[in-house]
Amino acid sequence: MGLMRFMHVCGDKTLRRWFFIDKRFAAVLRGSLVLLMDLKTSLNSPVFVDPLPSLALPSAVMTYTTPTSFPASGLYLNTPKKKPLPSKIEEVRAAGWLDLMLASSPPRKRQGKEFLPNDIQADDLDLRYHNWMVKYPSALTSFEAITELARGKRLALFLDYDGTLSPIVDNPANAVMSDEMRAAVRHVASLFPTAIISGRSRDKVFDFVKLTELYYAGSHGMDIMGPVRKSESSGHPVECVRSTDSEGKEVNLFQPASEFLPMIAEVFHNLSGSIRDIDGARMEDNKFCVSVHYRNVAPHDYEKVHQRVTNVLKDYPCLRLTHGRKVLEVRPVIDWNKGKAVEFLLESLGLSESDDVLPIYVGDDKTDEDAFKVLKANNRGFGILVSSVPKDSDAFYSLKDPAEVMEFLSKLAAWKEEESS
Ligand SMILES: [Mg+2]
Repeated sequence: MGLMRFMHVCGDKTLRRWFFIDKRFAAVLRGSLVLLMDLKTSLNSPVFVDPLPSLALPSAVMTYTTPTSFPASGLYLNTPKKKPLPSKIEEVRAAGWLDLMLASSPPRKRQGKEFLPNDIQADDLDLRYHNWMVKYPSALTSFEAITELARGKRLALFLDYDGTLSPIVDNPANAVMSDEMRAAVRHVASLFPTAIISGRSRDKVFDFVKLTELYYAGSHGMDIMGPVRKSESSGHPVECVRSTDSEGKEVNLFQPASEFLPMIAEVFHNLSGSIRDIDGARMEDNKFCVSVHYRNVAPHDYEKVHQRVTNVLKDYPCLRLTHGRKVLEVRPVIDWNKGKAVEFLLESLGLSESDDVLPIYVGDDKTDEDAFKVLKANNRGFGILVSSVPKDSDAFYSLKDPAEVMEFLSKLAAWKEEESS
């Protein structure tokens, strides 16, 4: 795979994008101007291959030029605005969102003899969960099979943060990880390359984790601080910026959505004003994306939250709305996600083209599915879904909650140390 830059016509703006594409295809396209249709965006907007030369990266080259600034408005191509949808379709779409919002977070795990209005329902849930685990076996009970797979291979670990390393809590600012979990993550990071890939801003997730041994990708992978490869020389093309981490170590910063920063700041401001009067609604600035948390909103106000957010977004065709666990997320329409971040980090680590590498991704959320898909599609590693309720996933294994994640990480570290001794 190689990276290639495309010009993306989005609404009335032209933006530059990076895509992973087959290197042979990149060689054919390099330097030419070709019109493609971007089928992945809901806008069906055209995508032009950037005519600039030398933009397809050989896999061994991972240094980049400084990102371009947000283009002046006079440079945008004018494309017709989207026609408004018939109101009935809008109603159906809004109803679908409302269903998602109501169902977005699994019920909390039962504690001891907590009262349940209907024990039969609870038993049914347990039965469905156990049936589901036939399809998504526990990574703990399947640990021997996993280590058989990992034997003789180099492991790379990718970990989501919220709901994976820390429990989901009412106030996202309080989602701290335990000291025991931090110790377990530090231990695996001393044995395998380990990265955290979170929807939060990179700085915020680092404040929670506080481990300099890791690589961090914030804003759903749109803000990556990765390693500088030993084989790199200076002066190579592309959009990584050489920087230093908190310990002064040289790193590469990759921010494929940097041109959206002013727009995201503006939307954050507008959304904050729009939902201010809704009890329990909470905004979070995640740098390249904006989160609207509704975990503490009364269910009868969910529709109001969704309406306010979509009203603000009508003026921003280059932004899209996605849905996580009791959170609506606004992010740029770019072909970049946690799956692309995994590919990018594997390549940065020099692990993307070897058969002896086994990447494992552990996550609990819908956005983690992009990473599960990448590992599954290329058949090079596998995902572990953290969930206490049955849900469809592209992961291969499952773990019930962060406590089981910690146990899995500890077992993995112990196995590796025994192997190496
Ligand atoms: Mg999560």
